Amino acid sequence: MLSQVVELIESKRRFAITSHIRPDGDSLGSSLGLFWLLRALEKDVEVIMRDPVPHAYQKLPGSELVRVTPSVDRPYDAVFVIECSDVSRPGLVDLEKQFVVNIDHHSTTALFGDINWIDSTASAVGEMIYNLCKAIGVRVTKEIAECVYTALITDTGSFHYSNTSERTFKVASELVRAGVKPAKVSQAVFASYPWSKIELLGEVLTTLKRDESGRVAWLVQTQEMQRRTGASDEDGDGFVNYPMSCGDVEACAFFKETSPGTYRVSLRSKCDVNVARIAERFGGGGHRNAAGCTFHGTVADAERDIVSLLVDAVDNRGVGAATGPLPAQAALDARPQEVVAAAEHRGAERDARP
Ligand code: 5GP
Ligand code: MN
Repeated sequence: MLSQVVELIESKRRFAITSHIRPDGDSLGSSLGLFWLLRALEKDVEVIMRDPVPHAYQKLPGSELVRVTPSVDRPYDAVFVIECSDVSRPGLVDLEKQFVVNIDHHSTTALFGDINWIDSTASAVGEMIYNLCKAIGVRVTKEIAECVYTALITDTGSFHYSNTSERTFKVASELVRAGVKPAKVSQAVFASYPWSKIELLGEVLTTLKRDESGRVAWLVQTQEMQRRTGASDEDGDGFVNYPMSCGDVEACAFFKETSPGTYRVSLRSKCDVNVARIAERFGGGGHRNAAGCTFHGTVADAERDIVSLLVDAVDNRGVGAATGPLPAQAALDARPQEVVAAAEHRGAERDARP
C-alpha cells in the first residue's frame, strides 16, 4: 500500500523502475513521473525497459534516459514494476530475484510484489504517482507533471472513457498549474504520426467486418500489410478505436499478426460490456472496456473463438457483473458511482495529510 511505498523510498537509495513490454502512455508516463519524483529526492534511479520508447512518447522528459535491457543486470534496493498484471509482463530476466514493488490500477493484477500498491479506482497509474508526490511531499515539477499528464490522457482516451472522474480532472488541473501545456502534449502524442501509419490504417480499414447485429466489429492487420507500407510495429497502435466511433458498435477486436499464426488481440467495449473477462480466457487481461491477449491460430479461428465471445458479451451485458468470478471487478462494474465516491473520500483523506 501507499504508506509502505513512502517508507521504502524514504529508507532506501538505489532504485530501478520498469513496466510492461511494448510500453504505452501510462506505463512510460508513470515510470518517468516516478523517475523524476525519485530524482527530486536525490535518489539513485534509472528506468529500464525491455522494449524501446515508441515514437509517440519520445518527447517525454527523460525518455532518452530509458535504458533498454533484456534483464535486470544491476543491483538495486528495489525495483518498481508499473502497470503489470504479473511479474513476467516486463519481460525482464531475473526480475523476480529483486525486491519488487508492484504499482498498478488494474483490479485483476496478481499480488506478485514484496510490496503491492493497487488502486483500481485510479484512472491511470499516473494518478497514483501524483498521489505519491503529495504523500511524500515532493513538489510536482514540470517534468513530473508532463509525464503524469501523458499517462492521464492516454489511459482515459483524452478524458473520453468511463474511468474519467472528477478526481481525474482535479489532478489534470493541478498538472496544468505545474506547467503542462495540454495542446503541446496532445500534439506530441496524438498528432505526430509518420505517414506509414496513415497508409497502414488505409489497408487495415479495408478488413473491417461486423456481425449481423452491427454491434460487434473487428479489424485485421497482417505482416504483409506492414511490409507493404513500411510500417513499424507500433504503427497499428490505436487502430482498435476506429470501429468504436460508430454509434451502433458496442464491442470490437483488432487482430494484429505479429508472426505467422500469432496475433496480438486488442479488445474494446462500451459501458457494461466486459472485455477483460474475454482476454483473461486467453491468458491476457486489462480493464472492463479495454483489454488484450495473444491468440495462436488463423483469423478464422479468432473469429470463431473471440468474436463469438464478444457477441455473447454484448448479448449478455451486465450479467457477468452479478455472477462473475472476480468480486472486486464485479463491484467496479456494478457500482461505478459508489466506487468513485469511495475513491474521492480516500483522496480527501490523503490530501488532509501533512
Ligand atoms: P491494448 O489493447 O492497448 O494493447 O491493451 C489494452 C489494455 O489491456 C491495457 O490496459 C493493457 O495493459 C491490457 N493488456 C493488453 N494485453 C495484455 C496482456 O497480454 N496481458 C494482460 N494482463 N493485460 C493486457
Ligand atoms: Mn494504465
